[in-house]
Amino acid sequence: MLNASKLSEFFQTKIEFLKGVGSKKAALLQKELGVLTFADLLQVYPFRYEDRTKIFNIKELKDGLPNIQLKVRIQNVQILGEGFKKKRLIAKATDLTGEIDLIWFQGVEWMKNQILVGKEYIVFGKPTLFNHTFQISHPEIELFEGKLEVKSFLQPVYSTTEKLKANYIGSKTIQKLQETLLETAEPHIAETLPYSLIAKYKMISKKQALWHIHLPASAEMLLQAQRRLKFEELFFVQLHLLTHKLLKKRNFKGLVFSSIPTVSVFYKQHLPFELTEAQKRVIREIYADMVSGRQMNRLLQGDVGSGKTMVAFICMLMAVDNAAQTCLMAPTEILATQHFESLKSYAETLGFRIACLTGSTKTKERKIIHELLEDGSLNILIGTHALIEDKVKFKNLGLVVVDEQHRFGVEQRSKLWRKNEQVQPHVLVMTATPIPRTLAMTLYGDLDISNIDELPANRKSIKTVHRTDEHRLQVFGFIRDQIAEGRQVYIVYPLIKESETLDLKDLYDGYESVVRFFQDVQISIVHGQQKSADKDFEMQRFLRGETKIMVATTVIEVGVNVPNASVMVIESAQRFGLAQLHQLRGRVGRGANQSYCILMTDKTLQENSRIRIETMVRTTNGFEIADIDLKLRGPGDLMGTRQSGALDLLIADLSQDSDILKVAREEAMHLLERDPDFQSIENRCIKAQIESTKSKSMNWARIG
Ligand code: ADP
Ligand code: MG
Repeated sequence: MLNASKLSEFFQTKIEFLKGVGSKKAALLQKELGVLTFADLLQVYPFRYEDRTKIFNIKELKDGLPNIQLKVRIQNVQILGEGFKKKRLIAKATDLTGEIDLIWFQGVEWMKNQILVGKEYIVFGKPTLFNHTFQISHPEIELFEGKLEVKSFLQPVYSTTEKLKANYIGSKTIQKLQETLLETAEPHIAETLPYSLIAKYKMISKKQALWHIHLPASAEMLLQAQRRLKFEELFFVQLHLLTHKLLKKRNFKGLVFSSIPTVSVFYKQHLPFELTEAQKRVIREIYADMVSGRQMNRLLQGDVGSGKTMVAFICMLMAVDNAAQTCLMAPTEILATQHFESLKSYAETLGFRIACLTGSTKTKERKIIHELLEDGSLNILIGTHALIEDKVKFKNLGLVVVDEQHRFGVEQRSKLWRKNEQVQPHVLVMTATPIPRTLAMTLYGDLDISNIDELPANRKSIKTVHRTDEHRLQVFGFIRDQIAEGRQVYIVYPLIKESETLDLKDLYDGYESVVRFFQDVQISIVHGQQKSADKDFEMQRFLRGETKIMVATTVIEVGVNVPNASVMVIESAQRFGLAQLHQLRGRVGRGANQSYCILMTDKTLQENSRIRIETMVRTTNGFEIADIDLKLRGPGDLMGTRQSGALDLLIADLSQDSDILKVAREEAMHLLERDPDFQSIENRCIKAQIESTKSKSMNWARIG
């Protein structure tokens, strides 16, 4: 048997040494697909498979069929359309049941010489109906020589690039390379899962799995191969995350915040409303962490308006009650200021010192804050990224809260909790962008998760409607009525990149038409390119009710709280993602009045846009919306997930493989409970696998 280092040596062989590659192709493979070694190539998995098991009759063809296979005889071949009209080659072909046209627009002359009249061909492509006759453009064709090749059963399809294709490295070529490689690699492929797991879930071996993922012998073997490789991948990702979590729990002693007199006083005397059951439950979960002697790392998920701020504040009081300092970081200045304004009076009534630090805090004030922080007399600090700066030093930071955490990078967040060098402070990160469970398990597998799954009782559910430009007068009329009743209104324009002048022009055009229509109404405008002082000024006017309409870009997306606002109009709603639409809608429905969300779009919508709009109209449930978002976009595109690296998956798909993920996570947990250091003989293969991939990436399932 080969030992681990020998194994990885083979897989580290440069791809140019594979038969049929050479240095020129190797350079291309590296540049276009990131394939540098044998291991890299084996892990370029097909992205789909074509079923070549069935041969259709022409009579059976229907419009809308995917790629299909026919066996036809060529009757005649001719070139049509010289000069002005598009030049094309048409081959008329028949089987016993009908006639079909095969068409080429490119390589016409060359193709004409390839096709032999009177011969039989296996033709593969997508049929479309044209003038009562089916045709296939640019089909793959292969001369039929009396017997079907058994190998062309389920054809793997690999993604390639234009550049690769131009150099004759298409899907077929990659398949050939895989075949060549597998033949030599076979003895080097080591098993990476313990036998007990393989037996328990009746999985095929790693060797078989790699073979059948590239060269499936049957549909059944392909399924087995996929199941095995997906399980393995998710299992190792979970092992990684859970090991991390375990290490943290083992190594990081937590501050114990057990005495909480002020929290009780606050509960009895100052709490402005009855907490929801969900809020109470979450506070209990957090308190349990605070007295456990271990450091808390908790993600608090709760839909917009579910009352996360109050939960955070109560937890901050727990810290302050135990002579520790605490801070709350928000992604925008508007939001930080708003948190500060709403918490200030509570903090001061309770006798605690609170301050706000943002990019626009004056130097003089900043200096005072720095001093008060260092001598420990400032208890609570609220702010933006400004909190991260090195100059900001705490005497005794005990709890860090990060609001809308997906807006921050991992690095930014961790900088904050390194601000206590003696003991790791407790960490509470909050998000209003609910993440489907499968994704949370992978993205935040090393965090504990709390959910606020209930809105305060006084909330009326927001009515959402879809309108097009034809209804604009009606919509404006409705806005006028709402303002007459004393309400306020948001009108939001898309701004995909804050620097795009075109978007800004849309915003100003919109603003002008609003101003023209509502001549007697006070209107605010806020966007990302304003100075923050101007932005703040406008926000404040709207907050105080001096302006009735807020025309804005998505800068108002997160957190802003104006309970009197009852209408959210979203312009060009088709340009927003689901998560964003949901966030924006959450800006209304915060007071006692019935609120409305009006989605304005073009008349015709693309399929995905239509689904997004329909989803918004149908439901206000953030978790349901997150699930649909995941299905529409795939996990890589979800907010803030791209940077995490945890989603760098080769074969598993978090939007589809939640069942496999659940089992993989459970098994990873069991394993770590029984044998956290992979000491047993059976688990040595895991250790070897982890070690051979350690330095490269966090995806331990990769071949090292
Ligand atoms: P989010 O979870 O989106 O951050 P906020 O904390 O901003 O929500 O809360 C939204 C609004 O609901 C605020 O005005 C807050 O004061 C109010 N609120 C929070 N909890 C309750 C409750 N239990 N009952 C009534 N209103 C509440
Ligand atoms: Mg909030």
